[in-house]
Amino acid sequence: MQLRLRSEQAIQRHIDLNKSTLRTSADDIITIPVVVHVIYDREDNKIGGAGNPNITDEQIRNQIDVLNEDYGNTSGYKGFYTDSLGVDTGIRFKLVTVVRERTTKTQFNPLTDAATLAGISPAWFTNRYLNIWVCKLADRYLGTSQFPVVTEINDRTNGLSVSEDEEVDALTDGVIIDFRYFGRNSDAITSAVYNLGRTTTHEVGHWLGLIHIWGDTFCGTDYCEDTPVAYTKNETTDVSCTPVFSQCRGSNSRNMIENYMDYSPDACMSVFTDDQKARMQAIMQLSPRRAKLVEYSKLTDQNVKVEIYPNPVHEFLTADVYTPSYEPFTVSVLNDKGQKVLEDRVNRTYVDVKNFPGGLYFYKITTGGQTITKKFVVR
Ligand SMILES: [Zn+2]
Repeated sequence: MQLRLRSEQAIQRHIDLNKSTLRTSADDIITIPVVVHVIYDREDNKIGGAGNPNITDEQIRNQIDVLNEDYGNTSGYKGFYTDSLGVDTGIRFKLVTVVRERTTKTQFNPLTDAATLAGISPAWFTNRYLNIWVCKLADRYLGTSQFPVVTEINDRTNGLSVSEDEEVDALTDGVIIDFRYFGRNSDAITSAVYNLGRTTTHEVGHWLGLIHIWGDTFCGTDYCEDTPVAYTKNETTDVSCTPVFSQCRGSNSRNMIENYMDYSPDACMSVFTDDQKARMQAIMQLSPRRAKLVEYSKLTDQNVKVEIYPNPVHEFLTADVYTPSYEPFTVSVLNDKGQKVLEDRVNRTYVDVKNFPGGLYFYKITTGGQTITKKFVVR
């Protein structure tokens, strides 16, 4: 909670100092590469059909379409209200790959099983990709996401936090969505309320640092001035989107139930506001993992790039790896005698060195056509 509060203060300071540029910087479109992990339990490996978490590529592609329409404020795909405050956030999404993994576990709890899911299907490098795990969640959960902290496992960042969970956070960073609410127009989708793929729009909003518009408390704040203060969430099955009003701080106003960061039925949602856009843009500059993702998303370089830190290291070694065209890479860690000290891993970049004897090591990245080796010292 303290980390969250400290992050919030840093976000507010950054927005105050950069408000005008944060709003216009979105002329520069940021495209976020997405990896979808499909986790299912059917032994016959059948793809698609009602009740089957092993969803079709089509369902995955149309979820990416929904994200692009919603974050782009695309006309023709609006929800019930056509609120004039709706903006193009300047953020787009590109599907890089779909990873399918079968497991014996039939359902997951999004609050406690993030590491389990990442164990079944490891995240692709979270400094470069938005990872989405699609699976069957325990009833009443639609999805969840990891909120970006502004101080993380990165000694280049001021205010290094000391939480025990930080390596885990880096390995589980992403969004978890129940397969019945993912995408639209699919046999797998059974809800009459959350059926247009906006659960993922909402959860990705959290992943980019947005807060529920009612501020998670009676007349609370989401730190965005252009989303009216509301008593509470609009959790309803009313798909006719009847207006709802609140009287907070002495003024009566209509709740912005069309905002993606409410709990409204998918058909009622159509808006991210200017202040929400500024907040997401600020997060993408402040959060080390999001900032690195944005930096890499703009590169067209054909050479592999590798940076490792801290060096010397005594706990966790972090690597930032850029490969052209989202090519997967293999990581090998060798000692000074050239012996492998860890099993090779694909697209994994954090190394726990706490049990390594002190000395010189080599961190080797291999892609289809290139190999780069960096030295590091464990103390
Ligand atoms: Zn939420």
